[in-house]
Amino acid sequence: MAQTQQDVLNASKEQCIFCKIISGDISAAKIYEDDKVFAFLDINPVNAGHTLVVPKDHYIVLPQLPDDLAMHLIKVVKYLSGAIFEMTGAHGINIYQNNGAAAGQEVPHVHFHIIPRRQDDNAMSPWNRSKIDPEQLKQIAEEMGKNLKPISSSTVKLSSNTSVSKKTSKPKRKGKPVKVKRRNSTNSP
Ligand code: 5GP
Ligand code: ZN
Repeated sequence: MAQTQQDVLNASKEQCIFCKIISGDISAAKIYEDDKVFAFLDINPVNAGHTLVVPKDHYIVLPQLPDDLAMHLIKVVKYLSGAIFEMTGAHGINIYQNNGAAAGQEVPHVHFHIIPRRQDDNAMSPWNRSKIDPEQLKQIAEEMGKNLKPISSSTVKLSSNTSVSKKTSKPKRKGKPVKVKRRNSTNSP
C-alpha cells in the first residue's frame, strides 16, 4: 500500500468512533465478538435489533479489506442475520453496506447494517429507480464486463494477517466510468 494511502487510513483511524467502540473507549450495546469482528446495536435504529457488524481492524471501504477478512466478515453477517431473524421475529431483513459519503456512509469504518423488518413497517424509503432502454443496458453491461475477470474460491488469495496489502488497498478502475442517463424516475423498489 502506498504511504499516502496508509497515512489516510491512520489519520481516519485516530478519529474513528467505531475503533473507539471496539477498544472499549466508548460504550456500545455489543451483541457479538470474535477475534476479527465486532457487532453492536445501532444507536439510531431503523427498527429494534438494528445491528452494525464491523471488522476490528480499521478500513474505510469494503474494497480495501483483505479477502480472508472480507470472507469472515460476510460469514458473521450471515450468521447474525439468521440469529436476528429468529430473535426479533422479523418478517424480513435488509443488509446494507454504504461505501463513501456519496453513498450515505457517515462513519468511515467498514460496516454492514443488519436491519430487521416487519411487513408494511414503511421504515425505509424506497429507492429512486429509473427506466432504461434494453439496448443501452446491454452496452453498459458490455463496457463493465470487459473490465472484469472471473474469480473462484481457489484463486482467492488468503493473507496471513488483516493489514492492507498493495493488492487490496485500492480498487482499480480500468477504462472510463460508465454513465447511466436517468429518465422516467419511479419510486417503486
Ligand atoms: P452509515 O451511514 O455510515 O452507513 O452508518 C453509520 C451508523 O452508525 C448510523 O446508522 C449511526 O446511527 C451509527 N452510529 C453512529 N455513531 C454511533 C455510536 O456512537 N454508537 C452506535 N452504537 N452507533 C453509532
Ligand atoms: Zn475505525
